[in-house]
Amino acid sequence: MSGVPGKPEHMTNPHPPYCQFVPPWLLERLAQPGDRTTMTADPVVQAVEETLRTDIEIRAARAKAPLTTHKATKAAWAVYTAGSKQTLPGKLLRTAGDPENADPAVNEAATGGQAALDLFSQVYGRNSFDDAGAEVIMSVHYGVRYDNAFWNGTQLVFGDGDGQIFDRFTKPVDVLGHELSHAVTERTAGLVYSGEPGALNESMSDVFGICAKQRLLGQTAQQADWLIGEGIFLPGVQARALRDMAHPGTAYDDPKLGKDPQVGSYKDFIHTTNDNGGVHINSGIPNRAFQLAATSIGGSSAEGAGRIWYAALTGTDVGPNTDFAGFAAATVAAAGPHADAVRQAWTTVGVTPAAGSTSSGGTSAAPATVSVRRTGGFAGLTRTGELDLEGDDPRVDDVRRLVQRTDFASLNAQPTAPDAFSYTFSLPEHGEVTVAEPDLTHDLRRLVELLLDTE
Ligand SMILES: [Zn+2]
Repeated sequence: MSGVPGKPEHMTNPHPPYCQFVPPWLLERLAQPGDRTTMTADPVVQAVEETLRTDIEIRAARAKAPLTTHKATKAAWAVYTAGSKQTLPGKLLRTAGDPENADPAVNEAATGGQAALDLFSQVYGRNSFDDAGAEVIMSVHYGVRYDNAFWNGTQLVFGDGDGQIFDRFTKPVDVLGHELSHAVTERTAGLVYSGEPGALNESMSDVFGICAKQRLLGQTAQQADWLIGEGIFLPGVQARALRDMAHPGTAYDDPKLGKDPQVGSYKDFIHTTNDNGGVHINSGIPNRAFQLAATSIGGSSAEGAGRIWYAALTGTDVGPNTDFAGFAAATVAAAGPHADAVRQAWTTVGVTPAAGSTSSGGTSAAPATVSVRRTGGFAGLTRTGELDLEGDDPRVDDVRRLVQRTDFASLNAQPTAPDAFSYTFSLPEHGEVTVAEPDLTHDLRRLVELLLDTE
């Protein structure tokens, strides 16, 4: 996967902003259909497993990749084919201004990419994702039966789908808009891809993706279907789309896919360490707030609520760690005469707009327990200790501070020191991180002391 370009992570972002359209839990579900005896013969399972393997490789490549940015050129966009390989961008097939190609995936990417660029430039005055006219690079036919689309920090990438459940990922225009919007969010608020800010990051992509779709179809907020990924499923799959912004949790209910797990109210917020803190599930909450605001304001979603959301995303009140309440407050502040409608939309989904509200990369959205397990060592004894960060233990403040200022993502190295103790930290949002004793930082040593030396 050395051909995948990337860029260094945002300084405040503990997770790579690698944004994939299909949530990892959905792919995992498809890869485990229950009857293990038939699994290996099932082409969908094979395709999904291949997609999951590739996703892991992309994450690993992104963690190491050097800074590469496409220079602004004359063309607004360029579509390449990866030719069923995973080397990017592949072979150039069409750029802005060229006639249609014989390949429908190329033309779909061109149409969707142009629609997304038009939304940002014609409605919000933004010149490409970087607001400096960067060429949008898109690669289609990525991998074999690849069940996903993503922004890798440099370009957009689209798979062909497995041919049985998922169709081409270029088919729904909002998928193009969704992925390009990840690039916009990255270059503006820089919302970390974790917990509440991560769910907001996901929601921004659905919001501007749906605005691009409705604009292309000439629909008002009231006329629109509010479906994300409509047409991505092949016939026979019991699904209207991948997400429903108006009715989160109702987009699909299928024996193979399971039921749409999105939530649409803050009281139902899912606390999980999966999917970067449930970013694709909890995004249903801000998605529904946008849908309610857009229909209440009326007319074009892009020009009504969309302008307000864009102003919030690009304004000074929203940053990498802004949570739902903070973002809600920023939209109310940007809403002018529509402030009441916007406030009411957030209130309906259970979010109370609160100025200056931020979260620490989503730690508040995760199980609030930190634990450490010491294993290895010559005698092979195990010791464990844990702490509830929401309890009244006197160690809570010290442990919180140490956890917050440690970059755990950079520590997950392979412990190689023979006979050394190995410490496995289990953390909100980070999952498990194992560090060999010689590699412990001063802060981590202190954290180990606080968590283990309590008996
Ligand atoms: Zn996304």
